[in-house]
Amino acid sequence: MNDTAAIFGFSPHLEALRARVRRFIDEEAIPRERPALAHDVAALDAVLAELRPIAQRAGIYAPQLPVSLGGQGLSWRDRSVVLEELGRSFLGAGALNCAPPDQPNMISLIEQGSDAQRARWLGPLASGAIRSCFAMTEPQPGAGSDPSMLRTRAERRDGGWVINGRKWFISGAIGARFAIVLAMTDEGATQFLVDADNPGMRVLRNIPGIDGYQIGGHGEIDFTDCRVGADDVLGEVGRGFEYAQVRLEPARISHCMRFIGRASRAMEIAQRYVRERSSFGQPLAELQQVQAMVADAHIDLHAARLMTWHCAARMDAGLSVKHESAMTKVFVSEAVNRVADRAAQMMGALGMSDDTPVSMIVRDLRPFRIYDGASELHRATLARRVLKGGIAP
Ligand SMILES: Cc1cc2nc3c(=O)[nH]c(=O)nc-3n(C[C@H](O)[C@H](O)[C@H](O)COP(=O)(O)OP(=O)(O)OC[C@H]3O[C@@H](n4cnc5c(N)ncnc54)[C@H](O)[C@@H]3O)c2cc1C
Repeated sequence: MNDTAAIFGFSPHLEALRARVRRFIDEEAIPRERPALAHDVAALDAVLAELRPIAQRAGIYAPQLPVSLGGQGLSWRDRSVVLEELGRSFLGAGALNCAPPDQPNMISLIEQGSDAQRARWLGPLASGAIRSCFAMTEPQPGAGSDPSMLRTRAERRDGGWVINGRKWFISGAIGARFAIVLAMTDEGATQFLVDADNPGMRVLRNIPGIDGYQIGGHGEIDFTDCRVGADDVLGEVGRGFEYAQVRLEPARISHCMRFIGRASRAMEIAQRYVRERSSFGQPLAELQQVQAMVADAHIDLHAARLMTWHCAARMDAGLSVKHESAMTKVFVSEAVNRVADRAAQMMGALGMSDDTPVSMIVRDLRPFRIYDGASELHRATLARRVLKGGIAP
């Protein structure tokens, strides 16, 4: 990291912060991971409640938030180093309160929230007192990859709004204090803040999924005659798709940062395994096919890291990442999956078991090729933009 720090201008302050995060992850977060936590929303919340004060005392809490909200006030570039480090543990992002969907929800509230909305929701979210969720995706025939299929409707009534519709795969829904809900109005898609106590909003179930460590699971939510006030519109009426797009670009890059850390950890474990384990009289580490898996993993991780840092630097410079974040998301989501899969393969049966974190890392990373825009969708839009706009290779 030292040469890299010099080339990329990472400050001594960042290096010290990175070292503190690594110590916290190794000494506090990883020792608390256990397979029984996976899919257990209450147990996961309890462990995070234990870890957050420790992170606050260590001066590493909320790297994405401004100092005024109790965060570290880091640039996107500096965040990429810290989020990779904390992403090594399943518990890291939650412990530092920079896990999705709360992380992008906090950014939406900072950028689009009124003073009253920020006072009500942002403070408690930033301190970790409450959780939230972001509800866009709907079951057939509603919105998935194609947001224009949005079926959830909000109608103006008695000076407020009434929302009707169904959402699913809503991360963090179980136990969320509020939801940011995307619904169609006569003026276009609009974001609404809905209190979880609203009798018109019912979380129907936690959808059992492949990934175990999602805080608040993945909920299916019904909205029936869900009444909200005019002051519960987040941002401006009719600009919901635009806000969702602005939200998704940094959100997917933050996922890249965390998951590079997670995949690196799987490879660290696999490298240890092949150095210690022998087959037919020699360590696995001396077999060329095993060496190729190690080399390919390092090539993938290096490229993934550089693409992510490039996007982060563009965001810091206030430049658009519409094109770059899509390329980076496709590459990184596929690269980290290749890395984790190779790690599991290198470890034989042990790689398929819960005796090490590697198999859970494989499961945890797989949905990233689908959410934040499936690879196929990004490839389709990237190619269209390139060919229409005559973008040179
Ligand atoms: C773990 C997880 C967490 C999630 N969390 C949230 C959340 O918090 N909030 C939320 O609102 N949503 C969430 N989602 C939903 C996610 O955003 C959607 O799954 C995603 O947008 C894809 O929509 P879909 O599942 O309806 O797939 P579909 O739209 O049915 O697409 C299925 C497949 O078809 C292919 N495809 C689709 N469109 C195209 C295209 N134009 N070109 C080529 N191929 C295409 C792709 O292979 C795609 O995977 C989550 C999903 C998962 C798996």
